[in-house]
Amino acid sequence: MDLGLFLCHFTVKVSISLPRIFQPPGAFGIRPEIIYNEPMTQNFKTGYIALMGVPNVGKSTLLNRLVGEKLSITSPKPQTTRHRLLGILNLPEAQLLFMDTPGVIDPKGALNEALVQAALTGLGEADVVVWLVEPKPPDTRDRVLLPHLQKLNRPLIVAINKIDLVAKPKLLPLIAAYHDLFPQAPILPLSALLGDGIQELMAELFKLLPQAPPFYPPDQETDVSERFLAAEFIRERVFHHLGEELPYSVAVLVEEFDESRRPDLVRIRAVIYVERTSQKGIVIGKGGRLLKVIGQEARGEIEALLGAHVFLELWVKVWKNWRRDPRALRTLGYQG
Ligand code: GDP
Ligand code: MG
Repeated sequence: MDLGLFLCHFTVKVSISLPRIFQPPGAFGIRPEIIYNEPMTQNFKTGYIALMGVPNVGKSTLLNRLVGEKLSITSPKPQTTRHRLLGILNLPEAQLLFMDTPGVIDPKGALNEALVQAALTGLGEADVVVWLVEPKPPDTRDRVLLPHLQKLNRPLIVAINKIDLVAKPKLLPLIAAYHDLFPQAPILPLSALLGDGIQELMAELFKLLPQAPPFYPPDQETDVSERFLAAEFIRERVFHHLGEELPYSVAVLVEEFDESRRPDLVRIRAVIYVERTSQKGIVIGKGGRLLKVIGQEARGEIEALLGAHVFLELWVKVWKNWRRDPRALRTLGYQG
């Protein structure tokens, strides 16, 4: 049988209370006491903000920072994000709907095409667009996204990320270079990782958001399911532990999400799909060791998310060349 199975079962009872799902946002602090549809002020603002940019520029890190919650998985490997995901920041006077998107690059292959398409759809739906760039001048990698930004008929903010990596004197010419490209747009230096420049970005966003009542209840923090996030957290752990190439061959599908005994226990059965038999052994590791670590780490993160004990059953299966198979892309949720 072409299956690898590893069970991550922990029966130890812990007496500490587990984190509740979606704790109050850390970065901006205030959990709104407003009642849905009855905002406290007449001037309530709500809008979609698309976070756009090349792979690895820090879009998912920024989304997590802005909502003060880990929702979107991040990694040093390009194209970690494969879905559009909404991170909702609820404030007393505004509801900010941040859209994380896959990176926009020259698409090669069916998966990449689907990812770029998803990102560009996000662009079309946004009220405000944040173009996140590396702390270096625009280069050829931007040539896919730039024409879309140039014909954008809505407010744009250029955010120069990772400024913790550059010396201050180098920032001014960078700001000038992006100003030349988009003279109307605010150019904001920031560090999504360390939190620098986030308040300034929030202030700009607040100015540009349209007046509207909140679209989502004030306790909702994302538009994706816990089941989806569980699959993503597993995928992130796989990305984290594998070498350069293999992660792109990995997809995760949660086949069972049984919360009938919640909060005592949530049972999750998930499959890690790889493209070739040889890759299966790599994910499982010698004597199942790597899969065990992946399972333990993912289980910890999912427990923190759900505020419940989790029984995580992980399988590794081969789906030959799933990235080029439209049926696989649909089953795995990468294509509508
Ligand atoms: P995405 O592909 O645009 O979503 O990028 P990610 O959010 O996954 O981040 C890619 C890598 O860049 C990760 O290793 C992040 O930790 C790192 N990163 C993101 N923002 C910053 C930042 O402000 N400074 C530094 N030094 N690294 C960052
Ligand atoms: Mg990402």
